[in-house]
Order: sequence, then structure tokens, then C-alpha cells
Amino acid sequence: MRNVKYLKCTRCSREYPALPDMTTCDCGGILDVVYDYDSIRTSLTKETLRERADHTMWRYRELLPIEEDTVPQGLRVGSSPLYESERIAEDLGIKKLYIKDDGFNPTSSLKDRASAMAVTKAKEAGYSTIACSSTGNAASSLAGNAAASGIKTYIFVPSRAPKGKIAQLLMFGANLTAVDGSYEETFELSKKAIDKYGWYNRNAAVNPYLSEGKKTVALEICEQLDFIAPDFVAVSVGDGCTIAGVYKGFYDMYRIGLIDRIPRLISVQAEGCCPINTAVKENTPLRAQEENTFADSIAVGVPRNADKAIKAIKDSDGICVNVSDDEIREAQKYLAKNAGVFAEPAGAAATAGLRKLCREGKLEKDATVVTIATGNGLKDIDSAIKTVSEPIHCKNDLKEFEEKFGLK
Ligand SMILES: *Cc1c(COP(=O)(O)O)cnc(C)c1O
Ligand SMILES: [Zn+2]
Repeated sequence: MRNVKYLKCTRCSREYPALPDMTTCDCGGILDVVYDYDSIRTSLTKETLRERADHTMWRYRELLPIEEDTVPQGLRVGSSPLYESERIAEDLGIKKLYIKDDGFNPTSSLKDRASAMAVTKAKEAGYSTIACSSTGNAASSLAGNAAASGIKTYIFVPSRAPKGKIAQLLMFGANLTAVDGSYEETFELSKKAIDKYGWYNRNAAVNPYLSEGKKTVALEICEQLDFIAPDFVAVSVGDGCTIAGVYKGFYDMYRIGLIDRIPRLISVQAEGCCPINTAVKENTPLRAQEENTFADSIAVGVPRNADKAIKAIKDSDGICVNVSDDEIREAQKYLAKNAGVFAEPAGAAATAGLRKLCREGKLEKDATVVTIATGNGLKDIDSAIKTVSEPIHCKNDLKEFEEKFGLK
């Protein structure tokens, strides 16, 4: 790869060649892809981007870790909408508010960005089977993107995973194991199986290319805001791969000179499961926590990408905020009602954190903020119905209808 120099350990700084199936450093640290920004900045410019017909995540090819002749695999991922909401900005008391709706992706979550990358790298490396463990969305997106490219999958999810995600997995033909245990135990079982059978590994943190796929969400935000970086970007955090990817995308754009500063990241976790925010706030090593939240996608007691996530929060002068399940439910309704964006609980968590910070007066009045809705609400109908009320029933009778709505 001409654009990639090497992979570098985030813990001990050891360098490795960027082979398509590289995993972690011998020291156990996770690897980061190091680019040749000097050469990239000459070919990836505002002008060249404007002329590109490719409106998928692969339009930023120079900043992606694939060979020049590699054909991208998977579904049509990326170019999700960035909605501006004047109503919400006014309500929150900030200048501008944008919602990046990544539930718009083909399997309805931001994870498609990482899974399309994983399937592409697996094909590059000549594998025919990919495996992963996941709280649900990484799994369903991998199964969908792999199905599109004729690759077999072995997938491990905790049995608590919402039905929508299970339905996707079974429809996409994954070899699915619902593990009776926590996400941590699910990860451990997948690791044992992958070590034994040598499948391509799409586990968070183990695979250094996933956050490179996820960073395309930040590259798109830059382009959609005409290369003026927002002041804050709110992200919900589980394993930490997403927020690490968001940081990397802005860092890349900064290094090639397309934006002039990196936004401050708002790391949002659930009160019942916030190991990354605790480590940042208390400046202590990461400690495992219970997975005590209904926002299943961020119920990660032992985050695998914590090193990269913590660095992203600190380097961006970020803010950590924890939200209760009730605050997440309120944010789900708020986003849906005020912006027409129906997000799953973890997808609305970032907005819950943002609302909390605004209520506490922590953001400046002239701030421009992007909140990322990471997954679509239809993935978890059971919890959504509990959050709202049952519909009003009525016979085919106009009088009864009018009485029920207090009309006339
Ligand atoms: C995976 C996921 C997250 C968090 O991403 P991490 O990389 O685990 O931190 C947030 N929201 C949704 C909908 C997700 O699927
Ligand atoms: Zn190392």
C-alpha cells in the first residue's frame, strides 16, 4: 500500500508491516494504521473530492488501508445523511445542531463501515470465512456484508441481543451462536474458536482496520460541513472502536490540511456500564464493570478498544458524560419526535449525553455540535414500545375517533 507506512503499537510503539490479517502487537497492545500524509494531501483535496462519483465510504480511498487494485467488498456503505435541526439547537441553547444518521446504512448501523472494511481485508488476504463476537450490530453488519461477497461467517452474540439483530443474522445465513452469558464471555468463546480454526478475525481492537472503516463517518461529516470542523461531536461508547475511529477521521483530515482543528469529542456511556469514562475521569487504569443498561450495543463491561478510545478523548480535550437508561429513553423519543430520526437506545445515547451537558450549561452558546445516531430503532422494537405507549384503538366509527382525540 503506497498510502500506508506501517502499523504501530499504541502501547509500545513497535512497528509492523501492514499485512491484511495483522492482529495485535506481541505486547498485547492494539495497532494503529500510520499513513503517509505528505503524499495523500496532494491527491485528496477539496477539488478531487468534488469530482468523485463514488458516494460510498470508499470515496476516501487514499485514507483507507487497502491495496490500490483491491475491489471494495460488501454492501453500499456510507454517505449517511447529516440533518441540521434548528428546533433542537434552539431547545438546547446552542448555535447549530446536526444529526449524523448512521442508521441509514444497509444493515442499519454504523458498524457497516467496519464490516465492509473487514470483508474487503479478508478477501485481500484470501480468507473464505470470517468470525466475530458482538453485542449485535457488528455481527449483523458482518453477516450482511459477508453475504453480499459470498463469504461464510461464524458469529457469537450474547443471548440478550434484541430480536431485530438476531433476525438479521439468521436471514443473512450466519452460523450463529447465542451465548448464554455476558458480552465478555461471548468474546472469550469467539476467541477460543477463532484461535483454533484460524478464521479471519473481525473482533473489535484485535483487527486494526475496523476503526479505519469507522472513521469514514468523520470524513463524511467534514465534507458535509464544507470542511469547517464542528466544535463538538457526541458519540456513544461501548468497546471504544467507534470513538477511536471518529477521532482518527478528524485527525486524518487535520493532517492533510482539510480542516484546521479537531473537534472536542463527547464520550457518552450508560451509568450502568461506563468503564471508559470512569478511567478517563479518575485517571485510573481500566476496570471491568457490570453490563447494566438496556442500551445493549454499549453494554460492554470489558472494552477492547479502551486504549485508543481513552487517547481519543484525551487528545481531543474531550468530555465524558454518563446517562441513565431513563435519559436514553427520553432522548430516543426526543430525536424521533423533533427530528424524525428513530434510533436504537445506544444510537440515541449520544444525544442523551448532549442534552445533559446543555442542561448543565457545559457547552458554549455559540457551539456547533454533531450528534451521531449510530443505529436504527427498528432493530429493537420491544424496548421502543416500552418507551412509548400502546396505540389508541378505535372501531370504524368517526364519532368514537373524534371522542378519543377530543376533536370537535
Ligand atoms: C457498536 C455500537 C456503539 C458503540 O461502538 P463501540 O465501538 O462499541 O464503542 C454505539 N451504538 C451502536 C448502535 C453500536 O452498534
Ligand atoms: Zn506493543
